[in-house]
Amino acid sequence: MTASPPKVLSVVIPVYNEVNLLPMLLGRVESVPLPQGITKQIILVDDCSKDGTTDLLRDLAQKRPDLTIKFHEVNQGKGAALRTGFAAVTGDFVIVQDADLEYDPREFPRLLEPILDGRADVVFGSRFIGQTHRVLYYWHYVGNKLLTMLSNMCSNLNLTDMECCYKLFKREVADQIKLEEPRFGIEPELTAKVARLGARIYETPVSYSGRTFAEGKKINWKDGFSAIRCILKYNLFK
Ligand code: UDP
Ligand code: MG
Repeated sequence: MTASPPKVLSVVIPVYNEVNLLPMLLGRVESVPLPQGITKQIILVDDCSKDGTTDLLRDLAQKRPDLTIKFHEVNQGKGAALRTGFAAVTGDFVIVQDADLEYDPREFPRLLEPILDGRADVVFGSRFIGQTHRVLYYWHYVGNKLLTMLSNMCSNLNLTDMECCYKLFKREVADQIKLEEPRFGIEPELTAKVARLGARIYETPVSYSGRTFAEGKKINWKDGFSAIRCILKYNLFK
């Protein structure tokens, strides 16, 4: 019997002003062991940071040819960073990893499971189905639940956490999605587009170590309104 060829998980990391957390996050991504026969491609996209992150990444780009590092000339938002990152993917699977410590890369193997055993084309993480999570902003939680509910009503999916950063795609699914939203509207856009494709979607519980605004969180109430616009636009009018 011949061994199946190795597969690659491409990890796309959008980065904006994360100089304090990025080194630790990158260490975590690099050190997480994946199931046998799977290796990682790490793609970092600097979204024109202003806090020293760009210098850090320019330095890394010199020293670490094994990392794929892209730079934006102007700050555009997480969605635009993902668009740049997805264009550099060479792996068989693609996962989004935010550049803070809110989500734990040790959960990659669990997220990969439904794809590796042939059940799923796409796997979403969910912070709301029973893992350890930091107790934090109540109104954010309510906002998340309302946005997920509206998204589900439009897409007829029963997701529990549409806004979760962990979205894992088979490459052939990712390749069919043309990303348009430059900012945080990327989450409802991605969700609507995988629903539209008829992809087999699974959800896996993930832990959540939410950070405060003082610790660097960037999403705000305006992004909530933008999410509503994107849910309606990409589910109903596209
Ligand atoms: N990000 C980005 N460009 C921006 C804003 C954010 O690339 O203009 C990145 C940020 O560095 C992080 C991810 O997008 O890796 C999500 O941002 P954040 O954690 O602030 O959002 P939240 O956790 O509130 O969804
Ligand atoms: Mg975050």
